[in-house]
Amino acid sequence: MPTQKDMSVAEPLSVASLPEQLILPLQQHIGQNADPIVSRGDRVLKGQMVAKAPAYVSAPIHAPTSGTIREIGPMPVPHPSGLTAPCLVIEPDGKDEWIELKPVADYTQLDPISLRNRIREAGIVGLGGAAFPSAVKLNPGPSRKIHTLVINGAECEPYITCDQTLMSERADQVVQGIQIAMHALGVERCWIAIEDSMPTAHEGLSQAIAQCGDTKIEIKVVPTIYPTGGEKQLLKVLTGQEVPSNGLPSEIGVVCHNPGTIVAMYRAIAFGEPLISRIVTITGQGIASPRNIEALFGTPIAHLVAEAGGYQKGVERLIMGGPMMGFALHTDELPIVKATNCILAGQAGEIADPGHADPCIRCGACADACPADLLPQQLYWYSKSREFERAQDEYNLFDCIECGCCSYVCPSHIPLVQYYRFAKTEIRNAEVEKRKAEHAKERHDFRLERLEREQQEKAEAMRRKKEEIARKKADANKAASSDKPEQDAIAAAVARSEARKAEKAKQRAGTRTDNNAANDAKQAAIAAAKARAKANTEGSDSAKSQAEAAKQAAIEAAKKRAQQQAQPSASDKSADDARKSAIEAAKARAQAKQSANQRDSAGASNKQNAIEAAKQRALAKQSSAQEAPEGESKATDPKQAAIAAAKARALAKQQGEAANTAAESQAGDDPKKAAIEAAKKRALEKQSKASETDTNEEKPVDPKKAAIEAAKQRALAKQSGSNTASDDAPANSKQAAIEAAKTRALAKQQDNGDEASEPSSATDPKQAAIEAAKQRALARARDKSQQGSDDS
Ligand code: SF4
Ligand code: SF4
Repeated sequence: MPTQKDMSVAEPLSVASLPEQLILPLQQHIGQNADPIVSRGDRVLKGQMVAKAPAYVSAPIHAPTSGTIREIGPMPVPHPSGLTAPCLVIEPDGKDEWIELKPVADYTQLDPISLRNRIREAGIVGLGGAAFPSAVKLNPGPSRKIHTLVINGAECEPYITCDQTLMSERADQVVQGIQIAMHALGVERCWIAIEDSMPTAHEGLSQAIAQCGDTKIEIKVVPTIYPTGGEKQLLKVLTGQEVPSNGLPSEIGVVCHNPGTIVAMYRAIAFGEPLISRIVTITGQGIASPRNIEALFGTPIAHLVAEAGGYQKGVERLIMGGPMMGFALHTDELPIVKATNCILAGQAGEIADPGHADPCIRCGACADACPADLLPQQLYWYSKSREFERAQDEYNLFDCIECGCCSYVCPSHIPLVQYYRFAKTEIRNAEVEKRKAEHAKERHDFRLERLEREQQEKAEAMRRKKEEIARKKADANKAASSDKPEQDAIAAAVARSEARKAEKAKQRAGTRTDNNAANDAKQAAIAAAKARAKANTEGSDSAKSQAEAAKQAAIEAAKKRAQQQAQPSASDKSADDARKSAIEAAKARAQAKQSANQRDSAGASNKQNAIEAAKQRALAKQSSAQEAPEGESKATDPKQAAIAAAKARALAKQQGEAANTAAESQAGDDPKKAAIEAAKKRALEKQSKASETDTNEEKPVDPKKAAIEAAKQRALAKQSGSNTASDDAPANSKQAAIEAAKTRALAKQQDNGDEASEPSSATDPKQAAIEAAKQRALARARDKSQQGSDDS
C-alpha cells in the first residue's frame, strides 16, 4: 500500500476544543478495568483521578477537564466487537480547572521506584496502539539486565503521522522524556528509531539532543517498509536479534516505548500532569482538512472530524487505526481512547472493501506476506474452530503482530486478523477465568487447611489438657503417699493428746472429789468456829463446853481430812497420781503465795489510803484553823500539831524499842525466852485492842472473826501454859524454841490477818478456819505431850 502520510502533515498540530461531553471507557488499556471512584453528579477537576487501577497490570483514568459526572454505565466503545462497556460521562463546565499538580523539579533526585509510581499514578500506557501499562514495562525485574531503551518512531501504517508530528513539534519533550525513562530503567543508551521518510522529526530530535548534550541518545533511521514499525521487527532491524517466541524484548536486554508515551512520562514528572490527551491523526480522503489534533480522551470522533473540517462527500468507511491494523467503526459517536492513534475516513475505492469472504484456497499468499514467519491459514482454521490451544501452542498465535498483511494479500478476502484477535481475546478471557478459578481453589484449599489445622490444634490442646490433668492427679497421689508417715505421726500425736486430756479430766474429777471433801472439812471447821464464837458470846461457862465441842468438831474434821488423804493410797494409785497430787499441791501453794501478795498489795494500798486520809484530815484541820481567829491559829497550827504528833509517835516508838531492847538485854542469856515474851506481849496488845473494839463499837459479831479470835485465844492460853512449863523445866530449851517459833508464826499470822481484815472483809473465812483448825491441832498435840510429861 502506498504511503499517505503527507495528507495529514500538511497542517500543523492543533488542539481540539472542548466537546459537549467526554466519554471515558474504563477499559482503555491491557489488563483489568479501572474502578470508578466518583459518583454521578460529582464535580471533578481536570487531572483528577476518576477511576483507580485495581491491579498491577492496569491503569487509572483521570478527568480530561473539569466538569460534572453525568453518567456511569455501559456505553458504546471503539472495539471491533461493537459491544458496549462501562464508561464515565463528564459534562465539561468550560473552566478547564486543574487539580493541584505536584511536579518534580529534578527527576534525578527520585529513585526508579518513585518514578515508576508517579508514572503509574499518571495512568500512562503505551500510546503506540497496544496500550500496555508503561510502569510495568519500566520494571522488567531484577533478573533481566536492560541495556538499551528503544523509542519506536517508525510508524508502520501508511496514513498515521501522529508520532512523526510529535517528534517534529515537541522534540525537546521527547528527549527529556527519554532521559527520565533512561533514569528509571538505568540503561546506558537510547536509540530513537525513525523512518527515512521523517525528515522534520529527524531535524527536531537532532536539535533537541544537541541542546541537552546527552550523548547516550542516538537517532536510528530505518527504511519505510511496512510493517517495520512492528516492535519485534524493529528490534530485529536495530539489534539483529529476534525476540523469542511468546517472549518480550526485555529478554534481549531492550525495552521499547512509543514517542507519545515518552512525552507523557515527561509531562507527568516535569508538570505533574496525568495522561488525559494524545495526538490523533484525522486523515483520509473523507476528511476535509486532514491533520493531527491533540484531543482529550473521551472526545467523540465526530467532534474531531468537525475540528478537521468535517467529512467529505463519498465517505464509505470509518476506521480507527490504520488501514492495515485498524478496525471499522459503525458510528462516529464513539470516543477517543488512549490507544486511538488515527481516525481514517475513506472514500469509495480508497480502502479495499473486504466484501464477501470466500473459502480458503490454500494458496499460501498469506504465509509469504507474514513478517512474523507464521502460518496465517493454520491460525485461521484453529481460531475459526475454537481450537485455541492448538493455535496458541502449535502455531504461536501470540507472535502475530496483527499487521494485516495476510488479510491484505488474501485472494479470498478473508478477514484473517479479525479471527486472530478473536482467538487472542478468548484465550485471554480463559486465562483470566483460569486464574480466578485457581485463586478460588487456593482460597478453598487454604480454608480447608486452616480448618484442619484448627482441628488439630484443638485436639492437641485437648490432649495436653488431659495430660496435665493426669499429671496433676499423679502428683497428688504421689504427694499423698509421701505424706502418709507424717499423717500417721500426726494421728499418733492427736491420740496422745486425747489420752492426756482424758487423764487430766480424770484427775480433775479426783481433785473435785478431794475439794469436796476439803470443803466438807472446812464446813465442819467453820461450824466449829461458829460454835466457839457463840460460846464466847454467850458466856464463859458454856464457852468451855462449846470450845470442847468445837475442838471435837475440829478433831473430826482433821480425821476426815486424814482419811481423805489416806484414800488415794488405799485405792492403789500409781506413782503418776502421786506426782499429779504433788503438782496440785504446788499449784495450791503458788495460789496461796499469790493471795498473800495480793493481800500485801492490799495492805500497801490501805497504807496509802491511810496516808491520804491523814492528809485529808490535815487539810481539814488547816481549813478550820484558817476559819478561826488569827491569835488562835498561831496557837493551834494543824501542821505543827501534826508534826508534833508524829514526833510524839516516833518518840514513843523509840521508847518502846528501847524498852524491848532492855528486856532483850535482861534476857540476854535466853533470847528464845525474850522472843516468846515479846510475841506474847504483842499478842496480848492485839487481843486487848480487839476486845476494846468489839466492846466499844458494839457491832454484830462476825462468826468467822469470832472463830479466828477464839483460836487465837486458845493458842495464847496454850502458849502461856507451855511457857509456865518451860519455866518449870528450863533445861528443855529445845521445846521452848519450838514454842517460841510457833508463837512468832502465830503473831505474824495475826498481823497479816489484822492487816487484811482491817481495810475490808477480804479475809478468806475458809483459810481462817483452816488455820484455826491447824492451831487447834497443834494445841492438842502439845496438850497431849504435856500431859505425857506430867504423867511421867
Ligand atoms: S497479521 Fe497475518 S501477516 Fe501479520 S503477523 Fe499476523 S499472521 Fe502474520
Ligand atoms: S491467503 Fe487466504 S486463501 Fe490464501 S492460504 Fe491464506 S487464507 Fe487461504
